[in-house]
Amino acid sequence: MVFQCQRDSFQKEYTTKVESIEKTENGSIEVTFADTVFFPEGGGQPNDEGLFTKSTDQQEFKVKNVIRRGPKAIHILSDDNDPLANLKVNDEVAQKINWERRYDHMQQHSAQHLITALFERECNYNTKAWWLGTDSSYIELDGDVKTPEMQKIEKLCNDYISQAIPVNLAIFEKPEDAGDEVTRASRGLPVDLSGPIRVIKIEGIDSNMCCGTHVKNLAQLQVIKLMSIEKGKGKVLVHFLAGNRVIQKLDDAYQREMDLNVLLNGGPDYHKDLIKKLQTTGKNSQKTIQKLSRELAAILAQQVNDQPNPKPYYFLHRSDGVEIDFANTFLRNAKPKSQIFFFITISDGIDSKSGSLVLQGSPEDVDALGGEITKILDGKGNGKNGRFNAKVTKLNKLKECEAFVKKYFENK
Ligand SMILES: [Zn+2]
Repeated sequence: MVFQCQRDSFQKEYTTKVESIEKTENGSIEVTFADTVFFPEGGGQPNDEGLFTKSTDQQEFKVKNVIRRGPKAIHILSDDNDPLANLKVNDEVAQKINWERRYDHMQQHSAQHLITALFERECNYNTKAWWLGTDSSYIELDGDVKTPEMQKIEKLCNDYISQAIPVNLAIFEKPEDAGDEVTRASRGLPVDLSGPIRVIKIEGIDSNMCCGTHVKNLAQLQVIKLMSIEKGKGKVLVHFLAGNRVIQKLDDAYQREMDLNVLLNGGPDYHKDLIKKLQTTGKNSQKTIQKLSRELAAILAQQVNDQPNPKPYYFLHRSDGVEIDFANTFLRNAKPKSQIFFFITISDGIDSKSGSLVLQGSPEDVDALGGEITKILDGKGNGKNGRFNAKVTKLNKLKECEAFVKKYFENK
């Protein structure tokens, strides 16, 4: 069966009849029609979305997915419908697909045919796979593509687009009838395929079996942009955009450029330099903060060391952006006259409730207090030999913790 969706790419609304309705074991509703304008996922092209309305009362049913099962297109309805009660076999319906989504898919998919054919003809690289993504698409090639080759193919693609070369469809009853019309073998055809074979011809450039939907001529692609070559894990991917996606990308990039002009207080030519300058300033500031926080930690430790009769416990909390290095430096420098239980917390960011906890003292005290303190501050940690480290998430409960520690030492 060749679906209506594949015959006429520009059919926007289509009247047909319900052929079957079924509720599956997992509760989803599957509907088939005498024919359909909804394209089922296939050939690398995602399914259509849309709705259909019942002719008698105009009730709408949303189609959230369409899959192909043998010669049938199965329409899976959105959960907010109750179609079993309101829809019956032989009901007449008008189908309407999300045309913007479909046209976008047609552009990316047809562009893939052209790009694949030209990489094969010009560079002898075959397309092993392709992917139509929500934002960008790629083809996977079997050769080590170089940037000048990519640029050459992009230029050729756009030359052909400007010539508005027709894209035609031929239908053959059996694969063998297609014969010389098909340059690529019938690889990739679904195993459960039955019925006629469709051959898509970009006149003078390519001839290819395909179940997807295509533009009528290359002018409808508007433009093709080959974005980048990605190499890794034994794969070579060429990312591309076609048609409206190129415009959208340019629009997004330009908007970002305008925003950056304001944020950086300089035009696009200076963006890179201005950002590098900011990064350098940031790194230098970070280094200065680290140095100063170490010095501060050492001074605070010295104050503890200078106390003639220190209390048995010492609390220290910093929420001013210092890092854990601060606590380590403090404890390294702290050499009080008598044993002190140190309770240090550092928040992850300024005034953040999560952060780090460090306890240091006699093994007996640390063992006795570590678990309960971590519980109150809702964290996880461990320690031994009088030192305990934890990550905590409720630094707003510090007061409660301090009271608990105070009471422990009062009762000791
Ligand atoms: Zn195709």
